[in-house]
Amino acid sequence: MKMPSIYVNDPQPVPCDVCGDFMGYKYSDMIHHHYTSMHLPDGSYEMGAYDDGNNYYRKSSTPFCYSCNAKLKFKLIRKQQESV
Ligand SMILES: [Zn+2]
Repeated sequence: MKMPSIYVNDPQPVPCDVCGDFMGYKYSDMIHHHYTSMHLPDGSYEMGAYDDGNNYYRKSSTPFCYSCNAKLKFKLIRKQQESV
């Protein structure tokens, strides 16, 4: 049997094997940030800030059970724009 695939925000297609029920799903994306530090001419630290905008480094397609963290038996289809 082929593993089902869903888009984010779609209903959970199969129950968690461990819970035996539909408990919801979660996923973790690795996000690449830039943090800029500014120093004065004497070398002293002035301030730092995260650059505007987050760049996705890697979007995960693997969902885990919201309740027990078990790996769920379906895949997530990830789009560039999605409401999270
Ligand atoms: Zn579970």
